[in-house]
Amino acid sequence: MTTSTVWVEDHFIGGDLALDFANTVYRRRPETGADLFTGPDALAAWLTRARLLPDSARVGATEAALAEARTLRAQLWTVFDAHRDSHTIPADAFAGLLDTARRSVTDLAIHPDGSASSHDPRGALAVVALSGISLALNPPPQGVRACDGCGWFFIDASRGRRRRWCSMKTCGNQAKAARHRSSQP
Ligand SMILES: [Zn+2]
Repeated sequence: MTTSTVWVEDHFIGGDLALDFANTVYRRRPETGADLFTGPDALAAWLTRARLLPDSARVGATEAALAEARTLRAQLWTVFDAHRDSHTIPADAFAGLLDTARRSVTDLAIHPDGSASSHDPRGALAVVALSGISLALNPPPQGVRACDGCGWFFIDASRGRRRRWCSMKTCGNQAKAARHRSSQP
C-alpha cells in the first residue's frame, strides 16, 4: 500500500503555481525521484491545497486526470528546463500546455483579480497549464532557477538574488553538512 502524500508549505516553494506543480517529485537531480502524486487522491489534495479546487471537489480526481497531470508536469519540465538553460522553449512542449489549457476551458472561471478556479480537476489542470504559459511568456527578470541540490524550480525573489536552494531546511542544510564533513581532517 502506498501512502498518499501529505502536502505541506515546503512543497510550495517555487513562487509560481506552475513551478510548484513541476516540483511534485521527490527530486529532479541527479535523476527524477519518487512521484509525490502517489494517486488520484494526492493530485486532488494538491489542487485543493493550491486553491484551484474547492474542498468539496476532492472526490473528483480520476486515474485519467492523474495521467493528464503527469503529462502536463513533463511538459512543464521540458519548458522550464529549456528556460533555465537559456534555450528556446521546444514548440511541442509549449503546444502541449496550450492543449491542456484549451481542453477544459468550459470548466474554468477567470476572476477579476486574475485568479482562476474550477470545480473539476481537469479544469484545475488547465489553470496550471495557463500559469505555465503565462510564466514562459513573462518570465521574471532573474529567470526561473533550479535548486543546486534537488533540481526543484523556483523564482529567486531574495534581495541579493543568490538563492541556491529550494529550502535551507532541506537541501541548504545538507550542503552545509557536507561542506562541514569535507572540511574535517
Ligand atoms: Zn532542493
